[in-house]
Amino acid sequence: MSLDTSPATRLAGLIRDAGSVVALTGAGISVPSGIPDFRSPGTGLWRNVNPMEVAHIDVFRRDPARFWHFYGDRFQTLGDKEPNGAHRALATLERAGLLDAVITQNIDRLHVKAGTRNLIEVHGTIDHSSCVDCGARYPLADVRARQRADDAGVPRCDCGRPLKPDVVLFGDYLPVEALAHADRLAAGADLMLCIGSSLEVYPVAHLPDVSLSAGGQVVIITQGATPFDARAAVRCDGDVVQEMNAVLAALGIDQR
Ligand code: ZN
Repeated sequence: MSLDTSPATRLAGLIRDAGSVVALTGAGISVPSGIPDFRSPGTGLWRNVNPMEVAHIDVFRRDPARFWHFYGDRFQTLGDKEPNGAHRALATLERAGLLDAVITQNIDRLHVKAGTRNLIEVHGTIDHSSCVDCGARYPLADVRARQRADDAGVPRCDCGRPLKPDVVLFGDYLPVEALAHADRLAAGADLMLCIGSSLEVYPVAHLPDVSLSAGGQVVIITQGATPFDARAAVRCDGDVVQEMNAVLAALGIDQR
């Protein structure tokens, strides 16, 4: 490997040579779509609230009206966003047979909108909400209609109980099946592409370790430091969209 080649060129070579490639994405991949990373203080939706306080399972249980007052706005904002070039690049790689799966912490549905088929959403998705009592599940548009129709602003099941979004709230359990699936993918990956994540929050903080321990390589495309920088085969610090477009170009694949 020559030192004068760009990170994108080296990354393209690793993707071409790997048997199994898995992507792991975090909030940073959705920032170019206009969705702020809530850990960046004072941004967007989270400017006036402490997410740990409002998006908490205890708030949902104790005061669903307060929870949904906040969460309904969040749904509205997320629902209007569109995938960016980095989301589309991953869908393109999958269609080209060069990417097995995307594991994401994001709940914003942008990988789905971009066309990724094999997607593991370890923090759930805003795509649907479920009844805490009978388990009935409702799609996002229906949930929003039910919220508007309710006097207290709480979307309710046909049985009358509040609906809970199928996302992992603070204080919530992580989805066991999705985590087990993510672990298996990480263990089987020759190459893990970590994109837009600081790799500090469980479970994603643990997945690069699983890959490395199983003999895989890890590459990191994100702005800011991560705990895995020293062990990364390639480290890109630039804009995620530009970096992913450069990788596609180096592979000779046209973005859709
Ligand atoms: Zn119900």
